[in-house]
Amino acid sequence: MIVVLKNGVKEEKRAQLIEWLKDQGLGIHISQGEYQTVLGLIGDTTHVDMDLIASLEIVDSVKRVTEPFKCCNRKFHPEDTVVDVGGVKVGGGNFCMIAGPCSVESEEQIVSIARSVKAAGANMLRGGAFKPRTSPYDFQGMQADGIELLKIARQETGLPIVTEIMGVNHLPLFEDVDLIQVGARNMQNFDLLKELGKLHRPILLKRGLANTLKELLMSAEYIMAGGNEQVILCERGIRTFDDYTRNTLDLAAVPMLRELTHLPIIVDPSHATGIARLVPPMALSGTACGADGLIIEVHNDPMHALCDGAQSLRPEEYAALADKVRRIREVIAK
Ligand code: PEP
Ligand code: MN
Repeated sequence: MIVVLKNGVKEEKRAQLIEWLKDQGLGIHISQGEYQTVLGLIGDTTHVDMDLIASLEIVDSVKRVTEPFKCCNRKFHPEDTVVDVGGVKVGGGNFCMIAGPCSVESEEQIVSIARSVKAAGANMLRGGAFKPRTSPYDFQGMQADGIELLKIARQETGLPIVTEIMGVNHLPLFEDVDLIQVGARNMQNFDLLKELGKLHRPILLKRGLANTLKELLMSAEYIMAGGNEQVILCERGIRTFDDYTRNTLDLAAVPMLRELTHLPIIVDPSHATGIARLVPPMALSGTACGADGLIIEVHNDPMHALCDGAQSLRPEEYAALADKVRRIREVIAK
């Protein structure tokens, strides 16, 4: 249930109403917008007297929220959420360009790629340290050493770092990571999501291989219900019957999620297609349909990459793409 307050309500009256609602065993999510305050009531609201609340002098309107996701629901929070990742804003008109290799392979590799993507206009560096590989015999990532190398690349370039966490036991290693990624395979690792909810740190939540948008939002809800509201969603393609591309990029998810949630939404055309030459057209399409950013794999030597070389752009290809992305952004800006 949401309660929209009238403009200019006195703080004291507002606090009284919140206390009264809390006394009924409800959690209250307060969204203080420029023009209106929205109170989101979390918990079992079946016994709450809607008519009584609507009759209060300070209340403008009361609505039931039928969707199971509350905190991330746009009805709870009409304005776009802006997530701050180490000084880089994402959402609410702020576009992020995350780029870097699938996996961190060496100091030389990550620093060199970080420099070239920064020169091309990227404002965050990605790089997997813990890799969720389908085969246990494939490269599993440099793990803790990989995170240390990402920090060196950050120091060299000033780019905030993005890397994937695979389990709760690794949390201490992620203390100094700017944006913690939850990969597709862990989108419903509920224990992990609950722990991330306690952190108050930016989280990049990728859509699972075969998950609906509602399930993605329910996973975001797990993080937000714990008190961490800094969540960025990522559409990265889903499993369908077609196998020419690695996954099927569901771009309609972007405008659909835009309606449903206030959280920023970014697109990953690399894992969605699995084919480097398809990355630029899908990145441009993702930009055109209103994404708040792109996460793209870039490698200085894709032929010898330890992971996902086939979908990695070379730095010069990324630079050419970044330039076109900026031009699309200018066209769609009103
Ligand atoms: C990744 O970004 O490195 C990755 C493994 O992506 P996903 O979880 O979307 O497959
Ligand atoms: Mn990859």
